[in-house]
Amino acid sequence: MESTDTALVLFSGGQDSTTCLAWALQRFAQVETLGFDYGQRHEVELHQRPVILKRMADAFPAWAAKMGADHLLPLDVLKTIGGTALTDVMKIEMGANGLPTTFVPGRNVLFLTVAAALGYRRGIRDLVGGMCETDFSGYPDCRNDTIRAVEGAISLGMDAHYRIHTPLMFIDKAATWRMAEELGGSKFIEIILEDTVSCYEGDRSRWNEWGYGCGSCPACDLRANGYQGYRAGRDA
Ligand code: ZN
Repeated sequence: MESTDTALVLFSGGQDSTTCLAWALQRFAQVETLGFDYGQRHEVELHQRPVILKRMADAFPAWAAKMGADHLLPLDVLKTIGGTALTDVMKIEMGANGLPTTFVPGRNVLFLTVAAALGYRRGIRDLVGGMCETDFSGYPDCRNDTIRAVEGAISLGMDAHYRIHTPLMFIDKAATWRMAEELGGSKFIEIILEDTVSCYEGDRSRWNEWGYGCGSCPACDLRANGYQGYRAGRDA
């Protein structure tokens, strides 16, 4: 049977998807989570997923009551195809195509398609993802146009009415921090700071005011700048 009160959140263990998880927990009666092992070099994010889930459940009993199954699916086909700085030992730089070498072709299209397939089996039609076209690295599969097209394709292809929710699509990183604070206050900010992984190098050894990370990859840059913008707005 189809459920309209259950959502499936694409949950990687990063800042954005963790914020989206809280967003879904405030809106839906039941929330399941899905992560992918695609051979990412920063696989430390996979180890952080259960840590984050447990901390969120411990800190927010109302959320714990809504948290359903957590799924982890293998998608190592992306590593087999390779050729990206997220799956191979490769320099992070601008490619000739005008995109950074961290762009994994087809990743979000594949993730959403697999999420829809899992949702199909579990009667879930509401998918939630942290894609954002505002200040991301120009990944074409994060654009709202792409997401809306995928929504149409999976709805047609599975003959079911899917809705893909992307609460971060039009906001910047500072606003993502603010959204996290609105959702769960300083307790939730603390969890995001200490346990989510943004760093492309998966560095969990270096502590910064905005969390763990190498401090020099593009993902750390975005996270640091966003955090500073958020703090500046808060202190103003
Ligand atoms: Zn980094």
